[in-house]
Amino acid sequence: MIVEKINTPVTKECDVLVCGGGFAGISASLAAARQGKKVILLEKMFMLGGLATAGIVTIYLPLCDGLGRQVSFGIAEELLHLSIKMGAEDKYPENWLDNIGSKTDNDKRFEVQFNPQLFAILSEQLLLSEGVEILYGSYAVATDINEQRINAVIIENKSGRQAIKATTVIDATGDCDIANFSGVTCECFKQGNVLAAWYYSTGEDGYKLNMLGFCDIPDDQKGENYSQTHLVNRRFTGLDGEELSDMTQLSHASILNDIIKKRKIDENIFPTTIATTPQIRMTRKIVGEYTLHDTEQHKYFEDSIGMVSDWRKRGPVYEVPFRTLYSSEMKNLIVAGRCTSVTDSMWDIMRVIPCCAVTGEAAGVAASITDDFSQTDIVMLQDILRQNGVILHENEL
Ligand SMILES: Cc1cc2nc3c(=O)[nH]c(=O)nc-3n(C[C@H](O)[C@H](O)[C@H](O)COP(=O)(O)OP(=O)(O)OC[C@H]3O[C@@H](n4cnc5c(N)ncnc54)[C@H](O)[C@@H]3O)c2cc1C
Repeated sequence: MIVEKINTPVTKECDVLVCGGGFAGISASLAAARQGKKVILLEKMFMLGGLATAGIVTIYLPLCDGLGRQVSFGIAEELLHLSIKMGAEDKYPENWLDNIGSKTDNDKRFEVQFNPQLFAILSEQLLLSEGVEILYGSYAVATDINEQRINAVIIENKSGRQAIKATTVIDATGDCDIANFSGVTCECFKQGNVLAAWYYSTGEDGYKLNMLGFCDIPDDQKGENYSQTHLVNRRFTGLDGEELSDMTQLSHASILNDIIKKRKIDENIFPTTIATTPQIRMTRKIVGEYTLHDTEQHKYFEDSIGMVSDWRKRGPVYEVPFRTLYSSEMKNLIVAGRCTSVTDSMWDIMRVIPCCAVTGEAAGVAASITDDFSQTDIVMLQDILRQNGVILHENEL
């Protein structure tokens, strides 16, 4: 049943509209703004960082392969430095000082833990200094399509319902919301997500990250004798409003239980920060022009836009094909972050912070050089990425 039809005013126009201000959206906005484009970054929360800040997921997983080689560069590395700026610089792993990864000291991977609030503020400052217009509290709820192009993204915020027109649109919502609204073929995470309840506390151990609900391994990687205890015996798609609300309440109850349990040992323990966005790992991804598989490690891709490693084990390196970021079904739409085109088993590798930054940067550059992603000048895209310090192929390391 349709209740009423609303005429939606166009309130803004830009070259590149980035939907979602997590690591992917931050990277994409930076990259596009640095190409001289007018960029608007739309974010439903009132802070940047997405899962990494509002979701309290504050471990910047490795930029290296675990064998002494850095594989992710450019904005992925820039944001790692930003995340430990202002007092946490000593968290920089010593063996990675001056970018010299030493094979003899490879037990420490090139990763850091950071403060979520500080990162949210510092990344906001950075984007503002690059001329990005940030629009907080604004939910993308629909798209206006014309001849396989997104003409405008419909948003809702305190001012009501409006439309933003853009030449290119980057879907960095983590959930492929924009692709889904636009009718682009997407796939959901069949296995479903386990409950997570990460939170910070203060007590005898100081300021501490409590990681309740550690991640689950993909179904096709579970051996016969696999068993793991989860917080609750239920799985979540992350794509249903009511389910997300239930999930959040279960997550809060798990934190309370944990605090009550820990109070028996430390009577002064208190939660200090709980997530203000649902802690959901994998939801919906685009079916792009190429789908990257976890068996494609060390494979050369002509259209690589950068490399990522496997945060779970040492050794694997993946070149990321540009074709995993778009579908020819929608000409001016590109995706970045945890909703790119990968298999379910590759998803667990690609969904983490450094990979989101790698795809974000490439999407941002691409969105500033073309308005039809199937027709992108790959050489030009790669040249700009190289100028930005990105190494594209494993044989160039
Ligand atoms: C429990 C848990 C633990 C994790 N642990 C780690 C870890 O230790 N290290 C690591 O590197 N990664 C970890 N991850 C994964 C990682 O944090 C995320 O996958 C990554 O940060 C995703 O970045 P993103 O920018 O693609 O998406 P998100 O961070 O989800 O950002 C998407 C942004 O878009 C906004 N948005 C969504 N929909 C809309 C809309 N319709 N309109 C407007 N705005 C919208 C959201 O508010 C959000 O800010 C973990 C994830 C979870 C859930």
